[in-house]
Amino acid sequence: MVGRVALVTGGTRGIGGAISEALHLSGYKVAANFGGNEEKAKAFEGATGIPTFKFDVGDFAAVQEGVTAVTERLGPVEVLVNNAGITRDGTLHKMAFEQWDDVIRTNLTSCFNLCRAVIETMRENHFGRIVNIGSVNGQAGQYGQVNYAAAKSGIHGFTKALAQEGARAGITVNAVAPGYVNTEMVQAVPEKVLEKIIQRIPVGRLGETRDIVRSVMFLVSDEADFITGSTVSVNGGQHMY
Ligand code: NDP
Repeated sequence: MVGRVALVTGGTRGIGGAISEALHLSGYKVAANFGGNEEKAKAFEGATGIPTFKFDVGDFAAVQEGVTAVTERLGPVEVLVNNAGITRDGTLHKMAFEQWDDVIRTNLTSCFNLCRAVIETMRENHFGRIVNIGSVNGQAGQYGQVNYAAAKSGIHGFTKALAQEGARAGITVNAVAPGYVNTEMVQAVPEKVLEKIIQRIPVGRLGETRDIVRSVMFLVSDEADFITGSTVSVNGGQHMY
């Protein structure tokens, strides 16, 4: 609905940037969070007019403060897109604890932190839309990604549990599980590995951010109030279940 307040984590570039822009163009009042890339955030704010908010989604206290700042500037958060995420790949036998911990904190604990910060107000207002960005690699697993696959798989369980808690309070909670999407995260994958990945995608191409945006826009709409606890897979047919 025009005028609803939406917070997108990792909302200044990549998939999150595209989601922020689409929400903004549809008339939502958007807050775009970012973690540390000031340069990208500044450029994004300048180009779109969307206010940006810097805080670490993996830090519970920082998230509380960040959500308070968003609320003071735009109003209570009605739409939350938990999109911020990182990779720290490596096979388990070579993985440092920090690689595990960073990914679990940023990709999964963040969902708890953000949802915890907005859920009480959503319950009071009897309205909320939460979309968590999972991954095909959380559904299917991926070599060299026990940390990332565990975090993303956790998001899918988190989504289904919170959906049950929110249903009677007018809050829907869904996940979107992208396949390989053409962002900086994927551009960091070595070219030869990427070629092999594309060969395994039935539609024969990487996803574009707009492919993910469409699902998110659908799920956050006021009209999508009978869809909760679901995962929309947007992966070009790479993984079907
Ligand atoms: P990018 O690497 O392009 O962008 C990541 C975003 O997350 C940035 O805005 C970054 O902020 C933010 N971020 C990272 N760490 C933190 C933190 N601690 N606190 C706040 N913000 C943080 O990623 P993508 O756009 O490719 O991915 C977006 C989401 O989609 C992620 O959850 C990812 O796992 C998921 N995904 C992506 C796929 C892909 O193929 N690209 C496939 C499947 C899932 P900053 O700019 O400050 O660094």
